[in-house]
Amino acid sequence: MPVEIDVRIKEIIQRNYNVKSFRMEIVDWLDFKAGQFLLVTLQGDPKLKRYLSISSSPTEKCYLEFTKKLTQSDFSMALSNLKAGDRVSIQYPLGKFILDESAPKVAFLSGGIGITPIRSICKYAVDKNLGVDIVLVYSNRSVRDIVFKDDLSAMSKSYPFLRVAHVLYEAEQGFKCTVGRIDANVIKNEIPDYQQRKFYLCGPPLMVEAMRKILADELGLSAEKIVTENFQGY
Ligand SMILES: Cc1cc2nc3c(=O)[nH]c(=O)nc-3n(C[C@H](O)[C@H](O)[C@H](O)COP(=O)(O)OP(=O)(O)OC[C@H]3O[C@@H](n4cnc5c(N)ncnc54)[C@H](O)[C@@H]3O)c2cc1C
Repeated sequence: MPVEIDVRIKEIIQRNYNVKSFRMEIVDWLDFKAGQFLLVTLQGDPKLKRYLSISSSPTEKCYLEFTKKLTQSDFSMALSNLKAGDRVSIQYPLGKFILDESAPKVAFLSGGIGITPIRSICKYAVDKNLGVDIVLVYSNRSVRDIVFKDDLSAMSKSYPFLRVAHVLYEAEQGFKCTVGRIDANVIKNEIPDYQQRKFYLCGPPLMVEAMRKILADELGLSAEKIVTENFQGY
């Protein structure tokens, strides 16, 4: 059952030029599953409320973290003004975008800020040494837009079953990536055994729907092999 609690912001981390993570101190730890989300309310104001995925893993027990792309909205402005020690209200855990631990091979397709629940799931798989084979195909405009770049790289080095393939619209010299967008050919190239995998898609609704169509209509995957999380609001 989800709980609603007031928590103290412990640490704020700048992830890239417009993305920040907020770590909250959790006194009474409530278990959640990697990939779930929470509802954050700022200043007790019902207008300052957003659903945000938990970007930390259940194995990172000292805090709970969410990660927000900062826009010009009132919510983003209020979030930008938060300092360590301030309090926010959260309701969690919510959602069903969670790893099927019985699937030996999975693939994640994500774009931009849609990486947040996937970072949680990957970190959980690494820390628990689950042995599940993971390919993450992560699309962004340019290198500077990648969220959790170093974190993903470190995880793929420490866990031999995680491979991260970057797809960028704008290539950068020296950075290994496919140039363009995620399409059927990119999926076939990066995930040659795609038919054996369960797919998890996360990002803005238009992107998630485009990915789902490619998997279902062009690559012939059945609906039960595709799990989606839509970041409504982008
Ligand atoms: C399950 C879930 C998980 C999410 N996880 C993250 C995350 O980890 N990081 C992140 O940055 N964002 C996440 N989002 C998106 C987030 O909730 C906001 O919608 C988004 O960040 C835009 O909010 P904003 O305040 O920046 O912009 P705004 O300008 O306030 O929002 C843009 C537009 O979207 C509308 N909108 C806002 N929220 C919703 C909604 N829930 N449903 C429909 N329309 C909406 C607003 O009315 C406005 O028209 C998630 C959304 C969902 C549903």
